[in-house]
Amino acid sequence: MTAPLLVLATRNAHKVGELRAILTGPDGALPGLDPAAVVGADAYPQVPDVVEDGVTFAENALLKARALARATGLVAIADDSGLAVEVLGGAPGIFSARWAGRHGDDAANLDLLLAQLGDVPDSHRRAAFVCAAALVTPEGQELTREGRLPGTLLRERAGEGGFGYDPILVPDGETRSCAELTPAEKNAISHRGQAFRALAPDVVAALSGR
Ligand code: IMP
Repeated sequence: MTAPLLVLATRNAHKVGELRAILTGPDGALPGLDPAAVVGADAYPQVPDVVEDGVTFAENALLKARALARATGLVAIADDSGLAVEVLGGAPGIFSARWAGRHGDDAANLDLLLAQLGDVPDSHRRAAFVCAAALVTPEGQELTREGRLPGTLLRERAGEGGFGYDPILVPDGETRSCAELTPAEKNAISHRGQAFRALAPDVVAALSGR
């Protein structure tokens, strides 16, 4: 059995698969790394959930990665992401998942944001998905990388795919919302993909010799 080398701070199997592909796939930065050595936090049920009380995406990503590296003794990586709307000074930002009050209520979050932006003209509807990816080693090395997917916000939902605020963000250079892109199209340009691809060389360096 392959021993785990790298642990990802998510219990979401879909996210583990996505990150594993970014890190070890055909164009991944870790061609020699056995995908089975990359595991999700669900392999360590004893690790408690972290209170995300940082005030930036990077701080929250570091909180999650730090707790996981300490608890497992492995190199840990984590991400934190959200939507930053220019006219709202960067909000919902770190509050994206609970903007309407209840964590993870995507429909209510989106309805509230659309209502708040009701009178904002198209010329001022700039926003970006932002992701911070963090790497922490058991020895205490810490670093973060950021990815951004800038675009313009629609006035109503378009598309059935994706999650969260995907139906209202049209990436720059696109005519479709993120919810109308295929998963592969979105992964190729996404804030998360960018952040993790930027982190991949650091992961290689952190794993070398282990
Ligand atoms: P988390 O980093 O997975 O906790 O994401 C925080 C929140 O940001 C999600 O609940 C979504 O509301 C929003 N968000 C982050 N990334 C995306 C994305 O790629 N599409 C749409 N919404 C996103």
